[in-house]
Amino acid sequence: MDIRQQQHVNERDYVLFPWSVQSKVNPINIVKGEGIYFWDDKGNRYMDFASQLVNLNIGFNHPKVIKAIKEQAEKLCYIAPSFGNEARAKLAKKIVEITPSNISKCFFTTSGADANENAIKIARFFTGKQKIIARYRSYHGATFGAISVSGDPRRFAAEPALNGIIRVLDPYCYRCPFDKEYPQCHIECAEHVREIIQFENPDSIAAMIIEPITGSNGIFIPPVEYMKRIREICDEYGILLIADEVMTGFGRTGEWFGVNLYGIEPDIMTMAKGCNSGYVPLGIVAVSSKIAEYFEDKMLYCGLTYSGHPLACAAALATIEAYEEEGIIENARAMGNLLTEYLKKIKMNHICVGDVRNAGLFGCIELVKDRKTKEPLCPWNGSSAIMDRIKEELWNEGLYLYIRWNYIFLAPPLIINQQQLEEGMKLVDEKLHMVDKLIS
Ligand code: PLP
Repeated sequence: MDIRQQQHVNERDYVLFPWSVQSKVNPINIVKGEGIYFWDDKGNRYMDFASQLVNLNIGFNHPKVIKAIKEQAEKLCYIAPSFGNEARAKLAKKIVEITPSNISKCFFTTSGADANENAIKIARFFTGKQKIIARYRSYHGATFGAISVSGDPRRFAAEPALNGIIRVLDPYCYRCPFDKEYPQCHIECAEHVREIIQFENPDSIAAMIIEPITGSNGIFIPPVEYMKRIREICDEYGILLIADEVMTGFGRTGEWFGVNLYGIEPDIMTMAKGCNSGYVPLGIVAVSSKIAEYFEDKMLYCGLTYSGHPLACAAALATIEAYEEEGIIENARAMGNLLTEYLKKIKMNHICVGDVRNAGLFGCIELVKDRKTKEPLCPWNGSSAIMDRIKEELWNEGLYLYIRWNYIFLAPPLIINQQQLEEGMKLVDEKLHMVDKLIS
């Protein structure tokens, strides 16, 4: 019997669902996607304001990418990574072209987490040092090494984690951990990193890993001086800078990469998600020419069965072609500017809104019980009935977005148009009126 033709299978009976207490899982079957919309098996349509997991940058079912996957599948579905692979070669060349000028070679993985795993290994091999600096409000993936360098509370369940991880406070201007205000603060959050480096022995630290703009911990957009200072501090102490571009890469911020907003060159860049919009799993570790040269006469102790998978690489090449040919990154910038305007209005009109932040189509509304005290509407690492209600009501009205703690994230596919953005933001605005009433 053809198992694909059998009667409906209850997924809950056979699948362990991620990040879930299994008995509470009640999956909605999604059967179709097109552009920024997807449909469940009852025919309900949803507008995707989260790009699924901030990866579906070009939207569902882009014909060019589907065609490229089909053509590659007919030619060569898989080849071991030690053989030459045309799709991988072309993709690596393209990545080197679109990343900062110091980046010269790529190692391919299958996700963001294992890109970060391999970046950490490469940083340790290259420097001969072991410790890694990471920020508290960060997420770098769920595998053991990647979750160990994450600050996100999702790491708690994996602890005690990898040895030698040093955590530092974040450039979270709205709730400055140093109780300062930009620009009078003299970027104390960066100077704090310098102090921690000294306390921890700079000669033992291999790398610092950062998201150029913090993603799932709340969209923190550091001042340009912060990133420049961090780059200088790393150089001063011989510490590599790893930019985790898994969410910020490939147009999300209105630039090819988050680091472009700051004009800095990281030593290592990790990427995944938007590189092929998630059509086929793929991660990338891109390294500077200095690091690439180091491995010319030394073993690179990294490898994966699916490294440089031809289907994933072909999908990424077609996705990058779509970004370029269809002006998708330009559109993200233009729609991002509109989003900034909507967010300004939202902040003006709602007492429940403490702060709004966005870079391109990477945005967040931070909800508070009281604007003066900034008490969050929902505690860090907690949940609240109001936040759950916002999410549920918006879903019922056909808008899917990512809500976590007291943050409403806004990260639609980069192909969204003005009318669609307006429609989604109107629904969000209406919900915030409800919250204003509930807290007043
Ligand atoms: N890095 C960042 C910044 C992320 O946001 C994520 C996932 O959300 C990851 C790494 C992990 O990527 P993946 O889930 O593909 O392993």
